[in-house]
Amino acid sequence: MRTTVINLTLLMFGLSVGFAQTDTLSIENVNVIPMHEEIVMQNQRVVIADGKILRVESMENTSEHPTAKVIDGSGKYLIPGLHEMHYHWRNKEGGIKRDFKLLLANGVTTVRNMAEYDWQDHIAIRDSIGQGKLFGPNYYTTGPYLQSGDLKTSADIERIIAQHHNKRYDFIKIADNLPKDIYLEVLEKAADYNIPVMGHAQREMDLEYSLRMKSIEHVEEFVYLFGDEQRRDSLFLKNAAQQIKNSGIVIAPTLVVFDMIVQCLDDNSFAKLKKKEVATYMLNGDHGYWASDDNPYRQNLKGKVINGMDALPLLEGYFEWMKNFTKMLAKEDVPMMTGSDTFGFVVPGFSLHEEFQFLQEAGLSPYEILKASTLTPARYLGSMAMEGTITEGENANLVLLNKNPLEDIKNTKTIEGVLLKGKWLDRDQLDSLLKEVESPNR
Ligand SMILES: [Zn+2]
Repeated sequence: MRTTVINLTLLMFGLSVGFAQTDTLSIENVNVIPMHEEIVMQNQRVVIADGKILRVESMENTSEHPTAKVIDGSGKYLIPGLHEMHYHWRNKEGGIKRDFKLLLANGVTTVRNMAEYDWQDHIAIRDSIGQGKLFGPNYYTTGPYLQSGDLKTSADIERIIAQHHNKRYDFIKIADNLPKDIYLEVLEKAADYNIPVMGHAQREMDLEYSLRMKSIEHVEEFVYLFGDEQRRDSLFLKNAAQQIKNSGIVIAPTLVVFDMIVQCLDDNSFAKLKKKEVATYMLNGDHGYWASDDNPYRQNLKGKVINGMDALPLLEGYFEWMKNFTKMLAKEDVPMMTGSDTFGFVVPGFSLHEEFQFLQEAGLSPYEILKASTLTPARYLGSMAMEGTITEGENANLVLLNKNPLEDIKNTKTIEGVLLKGKWLDRDQLDSLLKEVESPNR
């Protein structure tokens, strides 16, 4: 059975090197950042068996383990696998396995897919991963991206939510402003079927209405939810942040995608964006489109005047505000999740680490950022029993880093190896995955 899994895995990835697949392995002398509290446990041995964390113990403990493989973790740091909580599969041409390579090479072991487009079947993807037929991250998915045109009548609501139930989508995603009566009916019907609702904010209603969802995507939504004056009123914002905290809702800021949009509007930034290092991992045609003036943001926003203001300084102002408000939310201890909204120059996997940097720039501590990428999303997804921390009995989804991420979050990029479901991928194997998806852009 195990051989079958290994061969399948090799087939999926087309790797020329074999997996060092073992029943049991241990990572020795390693610094563990377990994430259930803010500590670094030095000089640890982490024993992995059957895809689970069997033991986390001091190296001084000499109890016997039938360990087939030992990984030297000296001077290195072990963190739980990362969560990309705002993923989109945008490129049919590349196939989803292409994205999985990028995600895995960047330490992402759980993905929340945020829309199902016409040509996709994310339930089939999720099921294939769950059944071990497809080697990929833990996978969660919303149904289709729902806009007001999809939800016009009670009959639409009944049909669409019943379809979510029948197809077993994990979430209902609302991406548009709805009339109040429709919105309330969606919430009620979804509650009947016990499917969580999340998505963009309801910008035309008071904050409390949006807070009835399970999460709000994009801190940008608060720019529109609040008026110009409210955005400048620090007392109002503090109260709003407290109200958000009290509601128990989770916020996924997705700062990196907004930064990309801003960069598209400025010729100098755009020239740099086209040549950014990770553009190598965009599909050729995709890069050609985004790097040209067909780029939708250049088409629709560049040089335009919005509310009497030029789009570029307006959006730059919004971005500064978004970072400040993200910091205010963190100060009130609002649970947050890391997601990047993967499209254009926001390349899956790499973009999550860019999001980390923006969160750090906003003023979140490295620990808060790691928590938003491990423990908080695991709690949100209901997988906390098995994911999100490095503790005994949890699934072995782990990332080994060369440098301490609690000193600077950019150190999450110093990936030495990734464990996905107990399968160890060392740096060479991760590089092979990246090599397979490289294209001569830039
Ligand atoms: Zn999205």
